[in-house]
Amino acid sequence: MVDLQAQYQQIKSEIDTAIAEVLESAAFIGGAQVKQFAQELAAYLGIKHVIPCANGTDALQIVLMAYNFPKGSEIIVPSFNYVAAVEVIALMGLVPVFVEVEPNYFCLDTAQIEALITPKTVAILPVHLFGQGADLEQVMQIASRHQLVVIEDTAQSIGAKFTFSDGTAQPLGGIGHVGTTSFFPSKNLGCMGDGGAIFTNDDALATQMQMIANHGQKQKYTYQIVGINSRLDTIQAAILRVKLKYLTAYTAARQKAADFYDEHLSNVPNVQIPARRTGSTHVFHQYTLLLENKTVRDRVKATLAEVGVPSMSYYPSPLHLQQAYSYLGYEKGSLPLSESFCERVLALPMHTELTEEQQAYIVEQLKLALKS
Ligand SMILES: *Cc1c(COP(=O)(O)O)cnc(C)c1O
Repeated sequence: MVDLQAQYQQIKSEIDTAIAEVLESAAFIGGAQVKQFAQELAAYLGIKHVIPCANGTDALQIVLMAYNFPKGSEIIVPSFNYVAAVEVIALMGLVPVFVEVEPNYFCLDTAQIEALITPKTVAILPVHLFGQGADLEQVMQIASRHQLVVIEDTAQSIGAKFTFSDGTAQPLGGIGHVGTTSFFPSKNLGCMGDGGAIFTNDDALATQMQMIANHGQKQKYTYQIVGINSRLDTIQAAILRVKLKYLTAYTAARQKAADFYDEHLSNVPNVQIPARRTGSTHVFHQYTLLLENKTVRDRVKATLAEVGVPSMSYYPSPLHLQQAYSYLGYEKGSLPLSESFCERVLALPMHTELTEEQQAYIVEQLKLALKS
């Protein structure tokens, strides 16, 4: 699905040098590397503050700690999603309110948000799944009408932009009040361990979140609020500084691979290629197809595996039907489209080192598997 080994070989000397410098300095926590990485990423994205932390899940938790919503407050979040956002909402004593997936784009369906808003609703949490933004124009309008906070999870879409109907393009993670991301190795900007960050253009919120990530202290041993310990490793920051220089090229490589798949799969019957929002960027964290039904999807996946083509189903089960969240009272049929997507999705290999030969083989084998 990804080829991190090949990617490392391409930039091995730069990465090794960066790591060696940290080892020589013996400053393993904090320091100039972390600060410089945060500044460089902020400049790259065009977002005022980047606050590094230990991982993408912590990033979401720090955001919710900073807002300190009353217990029992509701946050609207997609069920067709990775678990992190929902887990953190529950951990903080808040209530995840699941919204359906948008028919064509794998993000939350903004047409269904307002029906879910109650006096307890405090935030909308769009997750920009697979590399493309949710419909933030609608999200921002709804949020402003109901005075809700918008928290963007950009773990899968760093560097992508959303284009509004007036033509202005803005970076994902910098459109809502606050954004989060992950530097997990397989993410579009991945380190060699765990890492994450929070984005905001709001100075006061940035200060608050910085403090929470560092035990609630602004000065050493003076604790103003209850915090946690969530740091980006210095070695990871040094690695990320190298990799950030390649992010534009990495994104272009993913888009080129996606174009190849599009070209060769757009006319295949019963295969729906990933839709792209016109004008906005898709950075293709995943290239996800929708097949006819679960039987076909499972058969194709198994057939591909036999001929050495990996494929994955992100996500095999919607969060509202997971045991951990059964206390929320959702049942099978509560969110039919999310449930159907989980049965029909199939992601093909997508990374920065894919060759056209590999892709031609993948496409050929996929077509054969569909006919089998
Ligand atoms: C990877 C991911 C996260 C969590 O990131 P970690 O760094 O693994 O904690 C959160 N949300 C989404 C959508 C993700 O894909």
